[in-house]
Amino acid sequence: MAFPQSDTIFLRPSTVHGQGLFAQRALEPGEVLFDLTGTIVWAPFIDGKSDEGPNWYAIGWELWVSPPAASPALYLNHSCTPNIALHDDLGFRPLRPIENGEELTLDYSSVELDPFWQMTCACGTSACRQTVRPFYQYDDATAQAITAYTPQFLQSALGQGNQDRMQTFLKTHA
Ligand SMILES: [Zn+2]
Repeated sequence: MAFPQSDTIFLRPSTVHGQGLFAQRALEPGEVLFDLTGTIVWAPFIDGKSDEGPNWYAIGWELWVSPPAASPALYLNHSCTPNIALHDDLGFRPLRPIENGEELTLDYSSVELDPFWQMTCACGTSACRQTVRPFYQYDDATAQAITAYTPQFLQSALGQGNQDRMQTFLKTHA
């Protein structure tokens, strides 16, 4: 795919943050816009801080993908009411019909497991959570809503053993 210009997406300054990805035409749920590719990186969750790179995508417990320089995945801005999501086959797809010219947004909580990672959000949507953290670090109703578009492989990576470890981390570093 020629990037930043393709028949589906293009890059331009965003009102959310820096550069953003925008729809080049009307997009339908189910179509793959682009795939998550890159180098697999292992980094332990340690010392109450997040060591991950700013554009890494979680694919497992302490495992990420670091996208290459030309990847559209580097330019996806966050929204608490996203219009695209990462699927289990590592394809990014619309969650609803997207209009030509709309910015594509991803809920970062749905692509993160690091218990120490968080980000302040001012997306301004009615569902804004203000502090964005991994999907499992919210109350049940909120976590469930985010889980609806969180890849199954991340939900599986958060098995009981890792949940216990995560709780220990959080108590140790509270
Ligand atoms: Zn928000």
